[in-house]
Amino acid sequence: MELIDLHVHTNASDGALSPSDTVNLAAGKNLAAIAITDHDAINGYCEIADTYTGKLEIVPGIEFSSKYNGPVHILGYYLDPDNSGLKAALKSIVDDRDRRNEQIVKNMQEDGISITYDEMKNRFGNVVGRPHFALILLENGMVSSITEAFERYVGKGMRYWYPRTTLDLETCINLISGAGGIPVLAHPFEYSYKNKTLAELLGVCIRAGIRGIECRHSSHTPGQMMYLEAIADEYGLLKTGGSDFHGTIKPDISLGSGKGEIIVPYSWLENLKKAIKK
Ligand code: AMP
Ligand code: ZN
Ligand code: FE
Ligand code: FE
Repeated sequence: MELIDLHVHTNASDGALSPSDTVNLAAGKNLAAIAITDHDAINGYCEIADTYTGKLEIVPGIEFSSKYNGPVHILGYYLDPDNSGLKAALKSIVDDRDRRNEQIVKNMQEDGISITYDEMKNRFGNVVGRPHFALILLENGMVSSITEAFERYVGKGMRYWYPRTTLDLETCINLISGAGGIPVLAHPFEYSYKNKTLAELLGVCIRAGIRGIECRHSSHTPGQMMYLEAIADEYGLLKTGGSDFHGTIKPDISLGSGKGEIIVPYSWLENLKKAIKK
């Protein structure tokens, strides 16, 4: 069976590897396709799609942060990177990140960590996120893992956390659909919602035009994956899946296999492709 990974981050957002290294890693694992789904960015996909000549299929994607009683992520596939609505939205999200990040840097500087935001942008690129701050703390010896950095410093309410403005669910879904893409609810079991809230969230997403559910994901148990596949079939939604690979920023997650349990068949991508044409 040909295998794919439809949830992959590169250093265009908070992944550790460049788009080119990511694609080479995927090709080396004999994956048939990967989707590049950077947070709030599609330039990583564009960069590699323009230059890559190998046989791995590279799918354009994105991951937006939204909320419903807490964080909710929306994935988009096959969206047009040149769509003007999408470009304007990405610019305003990155501007808002910059505003939030400057505050975090200020607190770090006050605590004697020698870092400037310009240095961070130079090193990490346009989309700087909390995992990058976590990495700085790790490098400064203040924590011994990225997880500890989230628990002690950059998690919600901590010293190096500031809120950022997230788009509402409907806006994320409309942005993706408006750019010709397919909106998919990302990793529904990563949010730790009770069953009732999860059912409500699904209802809201379906009414807003979601077209798929990310059934297979590194944070889901085998039972949860089977449950989501049944839900997707029941509601006539597409099924997707991926590792959520970030390289060394999330060291326990491998490209193509997650924590060892992720198997995503190529037929799921074929269904996505058929759905764009509808
Ligand atoms: P930001 O969008 O900059 O606020 O950062 C949020 C990102 O941090 C999420 O998309 C996750 O990839 C990552 N993240 C959140 N919590 C953790 C955690 N406990 N450990 C590692 N990464 C995390
Ligand atoms: Zn990430
Ligand atoms: Fe996510
Ligand atoms: Fe992700």
